[in-house]
Amino acid sequence: MKRLWLITMAMTFMGVGAFAQVVNSNHGKRFEQLERMLRDPSVYRSASGAPGPQYWQQKADYKIEATLDDENQRLTGAETITYYNNSPDPLEYLWIALDENVRKPDNDSYKYEPSSIRPRMTYGQLEGLDGHDNDWGFHIMEVKDAKGADMKYIINQTMMRVDLKSTLKPGAKIELNIKWWYNTTPRAISGARGGHEYFPEDGNYIYTLTGWFPRMAVYSDFQGWNNKQFTGRGEFALTFGDYDVKMTVPSDHVVGSTGVLSNAKSILTSEQQKRWSQAQKELVEPVKIVTLEEAKENEKTKASGTKTWHYKAEDVRDFAWTSSRKFVWDAMAVEIEGRSDKPMAMSYYAKEAYGIYERYSTKAVAHTLRTYSNFTIPYPYPVAISVEASNGMEYPMICFNYGRTLPDGSYAESTKYGAIGVIIHEVGHNFFPMIVNSDERQWTWMDEGLNTFMQYLTEQEFDPNYPHRRGPAHKIAPYMALPKTQLEPIMTNSENIIGFGNNAYAKAAAGLNILRETIMGRELFDFAFKEYARRWAFKHPTPDDLFRTLEDASAVDIDWFIKGWYFTIDNVDIAIDDVKWYQLSTKNPEIEYPILKERAKNSQSQMAANRNRAEGRKFYVEEDERLQDFYYSYDQFEVTDQAKAAYERFDASLSDDERAILGDKANFYEIEFSNVGGLVMPLIIEWTFADGSKEVDRIPAYIWRKNEEKVTKAFMKKKQVVQITLDPDRETADTDVENNSFPRINKPSRFELFKSRGGAARGQSSGSNPMQRAGGR
Ligand SMILES: [Zn+2]
Repeated sequence: MKRLWLITMAMTFMGVGAFAQVVNSNHGKRFEQLERMLRDPSVYRSASGAPGPQYWQQKADYKIEATLDDENQRLTGAETITYYNNSPDPLEYLWIALDENVRKPDNDSYKYEPSSIRPRMTYGQLEGLDGHDNDWGFHIMEVKDAKGADMKYIINQTMMRVDLKSTLKPGAKIELNIKWWYNTTPRAISGARGGHEYFPEDGNYIYTLTGWFPRMAVYSDFQGWNNKQFTGRGEFALTFGDYDVKMTVPSDHVVGSTGVLSNAKSILTSEQQKRWSQAQKELVEPVKIVTLEEAKENEKTKASGTKTWHYKAEDVRDFAWTSSRKFVWDAMAVEIEGRSDKPMAMSYYAKEAYGIYERYSTKAVAHTLRTYSNFTIPYPYPVAISVEASNGMEYPMICFNYGRTLPDGSYAESTKYGAIGVIIHEVGHNFFPMIVNSDERQWTWMDEGLNTFMQYLTEQEFDPNYPHRRGPAHKIAPYMALPKTQLEPIMTNSENIIGFGNNAYAKAAAGLNILRETIMGRELFDFAFKEYARRWAFKHPTPDDLFRTLEDASAVDIDWFIKGWYFTIDNVDIAIDDVKWYQLSTKNPEIEYPILKERAKNSQSQMAANRNRAEGRKFYVEEDERLQDFYYSYDQFEVTDQAKAAYERFDASLSDDERAILGDKANFYEIEFSNVGGLVMPLIIEWTFADGSKEVDRIPAYIWRKNEEKVTKAFMKKKQVVQITLDPDRETADTDVENNSFPRINKPSRFELFKSRGGAARGQSSGSNPMQRAGGR
């Protein structure tokens, strides 16, 4: 009775176990298609990921006149916006972004960032607790219609709603005239993307004018008006259009800008014009339009007059410029595959950055344009400019970067690579998001992730030994191994991300690398990525359009990967749990019986050993002795004539192939894998054989589709295996490589000798942007 109960219990447990396993394996959860997580396709956006047959987007043209007051570091502007309603919707009001308002003293962004008192605080941090009372932010002087009549408007933080007197019908356009001024902010203090920097040694400024004019917000088919407030974090969502901009600045300033200088003949000296013509023919070494000696001369005095620089740009979603008397300016032409004319790569930099920028900046710009063009679309704009401004930020055709030398002109290798990395990154942003124009306010990763991925490829082509910060999969493993409370999916709104740089830049980029190197292969991925750029150049794509295009163009089911990598915080940790080694029985009694006999003897001595341990348990001992008598009285492994005849009959029944496989002493390995981290991945198995040679098997991730937690896979290898390593090149971001080998190879844990650096900033806000810390965004 008792025994029966035990058996029943055991069966019950087995039953529960088996049942639990079925539930845990979550059959289908990770491999079901994305469809329900994506927006429904429409006439505006097709299920293929391409723009639909009725795709539309708004257009905004700008005519702007701006004056830079160098004495008060103030900018005054007047603009005419012509807004085209290409949507099928009638509009009663327009939203205009006033991003500079983020620095108004009463802006909410100063209030809702949690803060705390730390053991050590700087004066700046203390002052930050009290807000500021600087007169920063836009002063809107007037908003008028085409006839000069006032328009009604309301300003909510960084967004201005202009109410229309009559409905703006589909297909119609409207003209707005706005006048404003604002104090440019000191970039280093305000943490702003644009503003000014003062150089006390020579009393000069470098101005970077960004977000400097009221800009049309995006109205789209997928979210109507994007009037989400600017908080300093989530970047910009802007409308494409044409620009005609006149900047009046001190007459000894040099202005670099989005677009093409249309009054070069009247504003450049004849010597500068000659150098410019020379630069247009130069493809290897940049030509200086303004030399170092001339820039140094410029710094010494301040002109009292002004000059008006006139720039024009077509099909851009924003417009930025820089102005200073400190600038050296160089330029050269760039040959772009698939483009008949040659755009100009240019740089503007002060003497403080001369050592690095003179050698590398314009060449890095040219290299970036060429590489990105190969992977996406031929660079379509007439110029691409790198400006040294001690921080990194991107705009159409122009970007601000960092990289200054020591006072004696020398520099550390890390500063050089840092500068080149930021230049590649910011120039690369021309493609994502300036041309392939995703919504930065909503999705940081859509431009930063794609751009960081391209930056990695471009750095690799610049120098195969480039010290990459981000890109390869293994670099993101430590982030993905963090406690889940410190993680969020890549599909998280820009404002809400904790690990900004790791999440939106590095993890998003590593995901594309894994798709390219591990899941699709380069040929299929590169075609699909190019197709995404081609389809969405000068348009507004969403994440759905990217995911759908990558699959549409490759025939690789990537839904499981997109779901896991972009929508969850699971990490990759696949373990080799066990490996069993088999050899095939020949069935020849003369070969097999001695082996079996040897094994039986071993198991008998094992039994004897057990018996010795089982002291006092007489029952078993007696039983064993009886068994022993039986074994010694009858040799079951004697090769009898009957056994031989049976083997001969078996052998005669074999085909040649079957006989060969029995004869070649192949090794069979059965590997048990478990999915510890949660993210499924292909199994990349490296075999090391007894003779030292190696071989790699790549098993698609589909192996996990029926059991997402545990799989077994058998392999046949001619040679004997001494070591098995999973993901030997660390291409899947596996967070624990100690369980990746069999037999286990324990890696020594590393610990560091910690040396306290007195006064170093402690507990830097974990929300701050690492790209920004390294001088880039
Ligand atoms: Zn960036």
